Amino acid sequence: MKTISCDFLIVGGGLFGSYAALYLAGKGYGVVLLEKEARLFTKASLVNQARLHSGYHYPRSIATALMSNDYKQRFAEEHKDFILFELEKYYAIDRYGSYTDSAQFERFCEYLSLHCEPVPRHPLFCFERLEALYRTTEPSFDPALISAYYRRRLADEKRIQLFTGAWPLRVEADAPVWKVLVQHGDEQLLLQAGGVLNATYSASNAVNHIFGVSPIPLMHEISEIALLYAPGLDKIGLTVMDGPFGSIMPFGKSGLHSLSSVAYTHHRVSYEAKPRFSCQQQQTHCLPERPDDCNACSAQPASNYEKMALQMKRYFKHSGSWQHYFSLFTIKSKLQANFIDDGRPTEILSLRENPSFYCIFAGKINSIYEIEKVL
Ligand SMILES: Cc1cc2nc3c(=O)[nH]c(=O)nc-3n(C[C@H](O)[C@H](O)[C@H](O)COP(=O)(O)OP(=O)(O)OC[C@H]3O[C@@H](n4cnc5c(N)ncnc54)[C@H](O)[C@@H]3O)c2cc1C
Repeated sequence: MKTISCDFLIVGGGLFGSYAALYLAGKGYGVVLLEKEARLFTKASLVNQARLHSGYHYPRSIATALMSNDYKQRFAEEHKDFILFELEKYYAIDRYGSYTDSAQFERFCEYLSLHCEPVPRHPLFCFERLEALYRTTEPSFDPALISAYYRRRLADEKRIQLFTGAWPLRVEADAPVWKVLVQHGDEQLLLQAGGVLNATYSASNAVNHIFGVSPIPLMHEISEIALLYAPGLDKIGLTVMDGPFGSIMPFGKSGLHSLSSVAYTHHRVSYEAKPRFSCQQQQTHCLPERPDDCNACSAQPASNYEKMALQMKRYFKHSGSWQHYFSLFTIKSKLQANFIDDGRPTEILSLRENPSFYCIFAGKINSIYEIEKVL
């Protein structure tokens, strides 16, 4: 059996695993990166709302709102070619059933020094449904361009060995190293690594389990991001706060808009540590231990596009003919502790030493730099 030694093994080839691999290679370490799917970036790092958060979205979690701003500027500078900056972004408060109101939202923005300009009239929006409307600046990153950029960088970095279609099967801690048996396609290989970083997001607990460390309390939702052509909206985005409302906003530089809704984006929920859904009974290879890519799955839920569009069109005077192109699906995972406040912190846990094991659970794209504090 082939044996490979490295300083760090990173499990999970989304943005966080890819960034960590490049960061460690840049420090001179030899890195092995394992990705279960045939390609990098097929899950949360591709299927998301593409909002480069400024914090507006989190009036119930000051900590998350602050964290959004921590790294926003650096992320924007280092990924500027993949970000749509010239976006006219609106946040609105629904007149009925919102968890917040205009006075509270303005106080929240003032507290965090977030620019928010009240808009008393606007030809596009329907004020019968809106208590208040605010113009802000909040760009949208392009997940497809970002994934292409990281694929190129990883391919150019000689200190990183990338294995796709690969995952850890069994491990043994033999201080100071981990010995990891890896399934790679039809073959197996043995890795010896000084440290391990688990960057598998929805599969965090499955990988923690293999390495004999504690689970983190997560819940999971099969989520849909609908991509549509919205003539008339061009570079305009609207998010309605705060509760069972929704968002329509440009999806990076794609020319499409993403549509999502708190009520209809999330199709199925699992409160177990590992994501277990009824559709896995039809797709027996998609295990809670190693969930597959929902976009390649025939058991994916039927789209809720029509419901989401109907809900969001209420806020526009003339929404015109929105055209649904396709929807992307993935598992969204959250810390159970954020069920009430809707916060999305990024946590990096050091769960074992000699040999070391870290688990990163990411709440937002621009928090990739948290990795540098720990590794
Ligand atoms: C619907 C949705 C909307 C979102 N909206 C936003 C937003 O607007 N702005 C924002 O900043 N953030 C947003 N997020 C959050 C953000 O997308 C995530 O925090 C981030 O993408 C997580 O990146 P990651 O690399 O940790 O996970 P992923 O991109 O999911 O990568 C994990 C990788 O691990 C692989 N893997 C799993 N198990 C194994 C295994 N056993 N062995 C090997 N590989 C394995 C997976 O195949 C996957 O490629 C959103 C997330 C979702 C789901």
